[in-house]
Amino acid sequence: MYHRTETVPVRVGDLTIGGNNEVIIQSMCTTKTADVKATVAEIHRLEEAGCQLVRVTVNNQEAADAIKEIKKQISIPLVADIHFDYRLALKAIENGIDKVRINPGNIGKRERVQEVVKACQARGIPIRIGVNAGSLERHLLEKYGYPTAEAMVESALFHIGILEELDFHDIIVSLKASDVPMAIEAYSKAAEVIRYPLHLGITESGTLHTGTIKSSAGIGALLSMGIGSTVRISLSADPVEEVKVARELLKTFGLISNAATLVSCPTCGRIDIDLVSIANEVEEYISKLKVPIKVSVLGCAVNGPGEAREADIGIAGARGEGLLFRYGEVVRKVPEAELVSELKKEIDHIVAVYEET
Ligand code: SF4
Repeated sequence: MYHRTETVPVRVGDLTIGGNNEVIIQSMCTTKTADVKATVAEIHRLEEAGCQLVRVTVNNQEAADAIKEIKKQISIPLVADIHFDYRLALKAIENGIDKVRINPGNIGKRERVQEVVKACQARGIPIRIGVNAGSLERHLLEKYGYPTAEAMVESALFHIGILEELDFHDIIVSLKASDVPMAIEAYSKAAEVIRYPLHLGITESGTLHTGTIKSSAGIGALLSMGIGSTVRISLSADPVEEVKVARELLKTFGLISNAATLVSCPTCGRIDIDLVSIANEVEEYISKLKVPIKVSVLGCAVNGPGEAREADIGIAGARGEGLLFRYGEVVRKVPEAELVSELKKEIDHIVAVYEET
């Protein structure tokens, strides 16, 4: 199996996907791409949340035309999602897109594929082959009867073969399915034979709650095996939530170096403070930090400092007050009403020190 670190690095704008690089977080705009103002506003929100690469649908001429203006107003690389129409791909490329998601086997005549490949080569733009269990080629469905992991890998190899024949190798591959075990199997099989970076996703995974669970189960299993160089969580929700979930997932596996982590206890009968509200407020506060600190919020001092010995900073509740501690050592007592504000001050201090060094 090719571990993610053994994949061939592929440049996308100022990012590199694959090889020894960190796993990249992606999302997709929900706006009409032709609505430049709304699309740019959404991309800015995504970027602020930690999105590193963003995809927009290019489903018509207006969308392809809008790429030029969108590119001027954003700083993260932009991906064009194109189905079938090679002319839209050419237009998006001409307008400065950084990556194209298109399946060469679906474009039609060889000359059309050649034109797209040539345009990508001229500008150093990679192509993502996006295999989806729900839209496998007819010849594969006839061969396998229904979507399977084997059929998905065969589909990916079919599209890869078309690009490689044209001496094109800046390729990223995804094999998405909404069936989690099938997606895990497809990506695992793909990692055996495909050395290009794999983009992970569980498609149509559901709403914020269920989609987060399904995506985390599927993508988490793959990440833990060393598979995947880039991820997108697909949710029926604000795409900013996709980015938040992706960051948490990468943190879980130690695959992100610039994110703060919250440790909070589940609470129990010992608790004397409103820990759930405090934990949510602190989590929101640290969610946008780009430094690898660990913050702990615990309900009581019985197990608190000990349980959070690894944390940089934290609080443990007591009756009407709380203990502020660093690295498991109590620093001072703080009235409950000031717990969050004092903790935020301490976090700001640690962040400032971190940024200076
Ligand atoms: Fe209960 Fe205290 Fe542990 Fe929280 S830290 S679960 S309040 S014992």
